[in-house]
Amino acid sequence: MNLMIIKRSSLPQSLLSHIPPKISQIWLQIVQTPTKTSTMTPAIKTTHIDRTAHEPRDNSLHELLITTITPITPAIRLFHLTPSQPSQPPISFLPGQWVDLYYPPFPSCQKPGGFTITSPPSHPHMELAVQQSPLNPPAAYLWQDPSTLLHTPVRIRIGGSFTYPPQILSRPSEQQPLLSSPRSSSTPPNFKKLVLVAGGVGINPLISILSHISTTRPQPEITLLYSLKDPNSKIQSGDTSQALFLDRIINLFSNQNDPLKGNIKLFLTTTGGPTNTNNISTNEIATKNLSIPFEKRRISLSDVSNAIGEHKDDVAVYICGVPSMTDQFVDGLTSPSPQGLGIDKSRVLCEKWW
Ligand SMILES: Cc1cc2nc3c(=O)[nH]c(=O)nc-3n(C[C@H](O)[C@H](O)[C@H](O)COP(=O)(O)OP(=O)(O)OC[C@H]3O[C@@H](n4cnc5c(N)ncnc54)[C@H](O)[C@@H]3O)c2cc1C
Repeated sequence: MNLMIIKRSSLPQSLLSHIPPKISQIWLQIVQTPTKTSTMTPAIKTTHIDRTAHEPRDNSLHELLITTITPITPAIRLFHLTPSQPSQPPISFLPGQWVDLYYPPFPSCQKPGGFTITSPPSHPHMELAVQQSPLNPPAAYLWQDPSTLLHTPVRIRIGGSFTYPPQILSRPSEQQPLLSSPRSSSTPPNFKKLVLVAGGVGINPLISILSHISTTRPQPEITLLYSLKDPNSKIQSGDTSQALFLDRIINLFSNQNDPLKGNIKLFLTTTGGPTNTNNISTNEIATKNLSIPFEKRRISLSDVSNAIGEHKDDVAVYICGVPSMTDQFVDGLTSPSPQGLGIDKSRVLCEKWW
């Protein structure tokens, strides 16, 4: 039987109020639950290193300073990390990658956190968007009082294969090593349509990809399907300020000089509200230069299929979100027809977080 101790000090306030003060630690039994494929999966989650053990990682560890911390929503903070020395060469990464993040006092045995880079490689600073997670030690470290974190160092290692442009689709002469600079802007990608599917904070790697594409030529036609919570119906009424990266996305698609080609569709869910994918009412959020359709339900496989349209053979699909969403869509898109859409697996990239 696998047991794990959780100290009282590591528990969130919401749980503490239910536990008598004299209890200083809790034993958890790790149970095995069967998944739909009948394999056994531990119910207690593991660390970022365990979850991404199969992913490629760079060898180098870079030290960066936390130079700005900006709250985006009550539960998400944006961090800018900047080289500590102006002479430090820029860190190479590809749009869509993440970092192993180590925090002081840097013991060699410390387990890093995993956070996605939300800025494009061309930016001088590296940006991360970190959700408040009191039980995850690296996230809890980054959710201390900002004044204790500013101008302090963190160490990062680049990793991940959920990268743009999709390597498998490239002709051999265009393939590039995992950690090189992004493809030069003159090389055309070997696909015409890009479908990006984000569930909640799954937008993080996709905003880096979108920002990067806006600086390259030629550009694919893009459809972004973005599902997010809208508990107070603020987004529906046009207040996008607390919707993670939505204003940045709107700017990229509506920029007067050089907008991204394509469209955005939002899927807004209210806590306890309808998540029914059969609800077909469509509304629009009118922003300065753009009308964005939204539906009050979750994204369904047919939404992804409609976005792909006639492009089954020249599409690249990127899906990032919780495993229940990513697994369902990858299955539906890549299973042979008539059960699925029969899209080549190399065209469907997926990253799951929790
Ligand atoms: C590829 C990838 C990219 C991600 N990108 C982001 C991102 O951009 N932004 C974001 O907010 N989150 C991101 N995450 C999620 C993030 O890494 C954590 O999983 C997240 O903070 C949620 O933590 P949790 O509270 O669910 O705890 P979990 O991470 O699910 O951990 C559960 C338990 O495991 C133990 N544990 C986990 N990690 C450690 C550790 N490092 N040291 C010691 N004990 C540990 C703790 O006991 C913890 O209570 C990403 C995850 C992956 C796999």
